[in-house]
Formats: sequence, structure tokens, C-alpha cells
Amino acid sequence: MTGALTAQQAQSRKEFRAFADRHIAPHADAHHRAQRTPPETIRLLAEEGLLGLPVAEEYGGGGCDAVTLGLLAGELGRACSSLRSLLTVHTMVAHAIARWGSHSQKETWLPRLARGERIGALAVSEPGAGSDAASVTTRLTREGDDWVVDGHKKWITYGESADLFLVVGRSAEGPTALLVERDTPGLRTELIEDMIGIRASMTAHVYFDGCRVPAANVLARPGLGVSHVVGAALDLGRYTVGWGCVGILDASLEASVDYAATREQFGSLIKEHQLVRRLISNMYTDAHAARLLCLEAGRLRDERHPGALAATSTAKYFAATAAGRAAADAVQIHGANGCSSDYPVQRLLGDSRVMEIIEGSAQLHQVGLAEYAFQERGPRSDR
Ligand SMILES: Cc1cc2nc3c(=O)[nH]c(=O)nc-3n(C[C@H](O)[C@H](O)[C@H](O)COP(=O)(O)OP(=O)(O)OC[C@H]3O[C@@H](n4cnc5c(N)ncnc54)[C@H](O)[C@@H]3O)c2cc1C
Repeated sequence: MTGALTAQQAQSRKEFRAFADRHIAPHADAHHRAQRTPPETIRLLAEEGLLGLPVAEEYGGGGCDAVTLGLLAGELGRACSSLRSLLTVHTMVAHAIARWGSHSQKETWLPRLARGERIGALAVSEPGAGSDAASVTTRLTREGDDWVVDGHKKWITYGESADLFLVVGRSAEGPTALLVERDTPGLRTELIEDMIGIRASMTAHVYFDGCRVPAANVLARPGLGVSHVVGAALDLGRYTVGWGCVGILDASLEASVDYAATREQFGSLIKEHQLVRRLISNMYTDAHAARLLCLEAGRLRDERHPGALAATSTAKYFAATAAGRAAADAVQIHGANGCSSDYPVQRLLGDSRVMEIIEGSAQLHQVGLAEYAFQERGPRSDR
């Protein structure tokens, strides 16, 4: 379904797919099993300019539009959700700096992030603060020209290897965002292993023990860390995760079609059994619907349309839940083979579970989307 794309976007998608098919997909299962992404793979993405694709050209990025970024996330998601997650968190950090950073923060960080010389990670969640990001307890104390960071962040994607953490803690002014470099004394990370999905994404605990950070690293005004900085980052994260789920849908569908066309039971290929066909029809429909919702969100983002936020939430919610259905059905179609690590559908199932939890759980989107519905209906819904 490329007809709705510009010629340039369609060409980019072709190139993203060729890159992912050649360099990412063949290794996805091995990285999943090893629970690591080798540094060479991250370097390759950086050398291709893919990590800086949405960063403005004046800072050395590709300056791509939202649709093109979405297409990249979709192709990476089809090949490997862990690497798509790298794109997501890295671009979230760059986006937050571009949106809320000072001139000098942009000059310092954006070119390095665009070139992939520094990998960004978003450190918001804590053992006691998940969906309610404003309840973070990591302590930020001002001492002269520095801020001192004390706390524990958990579930930080690529936390084990990232170079630059966008941390949200609590200062006297309220939730506050600041940038902390990995080599800051007092910062320590610890890999979290055996996750159900995105197992190569080196999710980690990040501990801050008296980390001293220059005041120049505070992003936006203290107190605006969640409402503005995380808000902007999450909106972009939802968008690329939504597209990543389109990738999971595509991969589930392709694996299911291929398997059903070769596996025989009861004297015929299983693709001839109508109940198997129904599973594939539902996957096919969901993949198209999710792609169209993500495309619409991308176009509205490119137009800076006020409806872009709601469209992004709708697309992420639909694509994530549809990816969950598709990956589960893909395992079903593969039978026992689907339960083994010999086929990629087992990985897709685990990855899809994560998609309904991150960047706003399915329930949080359900709560928020109803609110958009009431707003769109206007005063009538106040009765
Ligand atoms: C693989 C992985 C990678 C992650 N990467 C990062 C990262 O890079 N950076 C980072 O900061 N965090 C990261 N996270 C954490 C993620 O952001 C949180 O898991 C998410 O915000 C949900 O929080 P929680 O897990 O604490 O669940 P909770 O907030 O405790 O929610 C538990 C359940 O209650 C439901 N619930 C909560 N509140 C409501 C409500 N108001 N209405 C209805 N239902 C509700 C939720 O939907 C969920 O089903 C990651 C998580 C995972 C699993």
C-alpha cells in the first residue's frame, strides 16, 4: 500500500526495507536469544544516517518528514522490534532537546545524536512510577551551579549501553528534566534480563548516587519536566511505536502466509482450512488499517495539525492491540513450531506484549481517546 506516499517516500521505504532485510532481519532471532544488540549493528544504523533521520539538517540530521520517519520505524519493526526501540528512544531524546532545549543544548547534543556518536535513552520510569510519570521520586537538588541527582530508574531501553540519559526527577519546582552523561561519577547501570519482549534492547536499571550535573543540562524550566519535556518525547515515541507495530503486523502476516502455504494436515495445505484463512484475513485487514491510521497520524504531524495528538494516540492504540492479536494468531497458525524458537513468531508474540504497555498502556490510551471523543463532540457532550 504505497500509492498514498510521495515518490520520495515510496523510494525511502524501499531503501529502508532493503537495508532491514539485508542487515537487521537475518540477525534478529540471534540477538533476541543473546539478549544483546552488538555495537556494530548500532554503528551500522548510525553510519546509514538512520539514527539522525528526523533531526533538522542544520544540526547534521536528515530533516525527514514524519511519514518518512514512520516508514523507517515500520521497516525496522518488521525486522526487529529491539532495534526499532532504539530508534524510538534515541529520537525521543533528540526531539525533546530540539523542542525544549536551549540554543547551546541543541548545538552541543543534536549533531552528536544525529551522527549516532551518542546514543540517547529516556529515563522516566521508576520502581514506583510507571503510567503516572509525574509521581517520580528521583531527587534533584540544586547546589550552586550544579544539580545533584539521586534515585533509581527502571526499565530503561538501551539503558545498559546508552551514552546520554534524559532523566526526569523531582526538584523543589516539581518534575524536572535534565541530561546526564553516562560517564558522570555516581551513575551505574544494571542489565535486566529475561524480559518477555524486545529482549535485545538491553533494558536496564539506572542508579544515580549523588551525580553532579551542570545547571546548563536542565531542559526547559524546572517544573515542566513531565508536562512539556516528557509530553513531547512521548508523543513522538507513540508515533514510532505505532509504526513499529505495523512492522510486527507485516511480519506476522508474512510468516503466517508462508507457513500456511507449506504445512499440510488432513490431506491439504492448512491454508485451505477456512478457520486458518479467517485468522489470516483478520491479520491482513488489521495490517492495512494500522498502516492507514499511522499514515494519517504522520500526515497530520507534518501539517502541524491540531488533530495530530489524537491521531497519534489512535494509531498507537489500534496498531499495538492489532499487533498483539496478529502475533498471537501467527503462533496459532504455526502450532507447536510457533511455540519454539525455530520460528520468528515466538519473538513477535513477546515483542507485541510490550507494545501494549510502553508509550502509554492500552488502558491509558482508552481513557484518553474517550476524552478526545467528548471534546470532538463539543458542548453537546457536556449535557
Ligand atoms: C520492555 C520495556 C521497555 C521500557 N522502556 C522504558 C524506557 O526506555 N524509559 C522509561 O522511562 N520507561 C520504560 N518502560 C516503562 C514503561 O514506560 C512502563 O512500563 C509504563 O509506563 C507502564 O508503567 P508500569 O509498567 O509501572 O505499569 P502501571 O502504571 O503500574 O500499570 C499497571 C496496569 O494498570 C493499568 N493502569 C494504570 N493506570 C491506569 C489508569 N489510570 N486507568 C486504567 N488503567 C490503568 C495499566 O494499563 C496496566 O495495565 C519500559 C517498559 C518495558 C516493559
